[in-house]
Amino acid sequence: MENSDKRHIAILGSTGSIGTQALEVIDANPERFQVEILTAHSNAELLAEQALKYKPNAVVIQSEEKYACLKDRLFDFGIKTYCGADALADIVETDAIDIVLTALVGFAGLRPTMKAIEAGKHIALANKETLVVAGEIVTAAAKKAGVNIYPVDSEHSAIFQCLVGEFHNPIEKIYLTASGGPFRGYNYEQLKTVLPKNALKHPNWDMGAKITIDSASMMNKGLEVIEAKWLFGLKPEQIDVIVHPQSVLHSIVQFRDGSMKAQMGLPDMKLPIQYAIGYPERLLSDFPRFNFLDYPELTFEKPDYEAFRNLKLAFGAMADGGNKPCILNAANEIAVDAFLNKGLGFTEMSDVIENALQSVYFIEKPTLEDYFETDAETRTFAHSRILEKIG
Ligand code: NDP
Ligand code: MG
Repeated sequence: MENSDKRHIAILGSTGSIGTQALEVIDANPERFQVEILTAHSNAELLAEQALKYKPNAVVIQSEEKYACLKDRLFDFGIKTYCGADALADIVETDAIDIVLTALVGFAGLRPTMKAIEAGKHIALANKETLVVAGEIVTAAAKKAGVNIYPVDSEHSAIFQCLVGEFHNPIEKIYLTASGGPFRGYNYEQLKTVLPKNALKHPNWDMGAKITIDSASMMNKGLEVIEAKWLFGLKPEQIDVIVHPQSVLHSIVQFRDGSMKAQMGLPDMKLPIQYAIGYPERLLSDFPRFNFLDYPELTFEKPDYEAFRNLKLAFGAMADGGNKPCILNAANEIAVDAFLNKGLGFTEMSDVIENALQSVYFIEKPTLEDYFETDAETRTFAHSRILEKIG
C-alpha cells in the first residue's frame, strides 16, 4: 500500500466485536483507510454514532423498526441510509469500495459476500459461516473475479502469514490451535449442566455472543476446520486440531520437508484484522508485545471428541461434503440461539445438530439456491426438534 493510496473499505457488521475493533485499527491508521460503508443489524444508536464520526458514503441497517431513528439522526449530514437485507447485498457493489470486511454473523453473510466478490471487491473475511456453508462456490467465484479473500480469523490469518513466500510449496498439514474454551477438561456429564452465563465467559478472547458459545462447544473450531479447507485448498486429512490453552501460537503449517512454521503473538483480534485489511504491508502498531517470561509454559493437548461432539460432527460434515456443512451451520445457529434464550441444554445443541444432519435432504452438488433452501429447511427442522425437547 502506497502512503498516499487510501484503501476504501466497507464494514459489514461495524457495530459488533470485529467491526468495532476494525474501526480502532482504522483510527490508528487514518491516512491508510477511508470508510465508505457501515452496516448493522439493529443497533441504530451505535451505527449513527459511527456514521457521524467516519462520514461514510452510506449506512445500512437490517432492522426495519430501527430505520426511522437512523434516518432522522443522519438526515442533515448527507450520509445515505438504507434498510433491509436486499440493501445490504446491493450496497457492496458501490464503485468506491476496494475491500469489504465481512464482520456480520452467521448465514446472513453469504449473500453480501457473494455480491461483493462478483462486483470485484477484495474480501477481508471474518464471517467464517459463509465459507462453511458454500466454500466451493465462494472460492470459485473469487477465483473467477480475480479477488482475494484475506482471512481475519486469527488461526487462518496465522496460516496465511506462515504461507507468505511459500505459496508454491505444498502444505503437508496444518494444525489449528484451540484454546479449549471455558469448559476445557469437562466430561460429557459435566457439560450437560453448564449454563449460558458460564459459557459466555471465554478465558482468552472477548467476542460476540454466537462465536463465544461456539467456542465453548468447540463448534467454532469445527467451523474453522471447514473454513481452512476452502481457504487453503486442503483435503480433510490435512487438517488437525490441537488444544493450546494459552492461545499464543495461533496455528501451524507443516511443509513436506517436515518443517513447521507457526505465527505467535498475544491474543488480540486487532492484529489479524489489521493484517487482512492492510495486506501485504505490516502496519505499525502499538499493540502490547509478547513477553516470553510471562509464558514460561506453552502446553498442547488432544481435543476431547467424545465430550465435545460438535467437533466430531463438523469433521463428519466436511468429509460428507455437499450441503452437509450448510446443515451443520444452520442447525447450530438455531441451537445456539435456543441455548442462549430458550433453555435448550448445552449438550442438547449437539443432539439437534446431529438429528438435522441425519434428517435434512442431502444434496451432493448444491447450487447457491440449494444452499438457501437447505438453510431454510434446516432452520425449520431444528426449531421443531427444539420445541419437542423444551416443550
Ligand atoms: P457480533 O455479534 O459482535 O457482531 C455482529 C455484527 O453483525 C453486528 O454489527 C450486528 O449488528 C451484525 N449482524 C448480526 N446479525 C446480522 C444480520 N442477520 N444481518 C446483518 N447484520 C447482522 O459478532 P462478532 O464480531 O463476534 O463476529 C462477527 C463474525 O466474525 C462472525 O462470523 C464470527 O464467527 C467471526 N469472528 C469473530 C471473532 C471475534 O473475536 N469476535 C474472531 C474470529 C471470527 P447489531 O450490532 O446491530 O446486532
Ligand atoms: Mg478463530
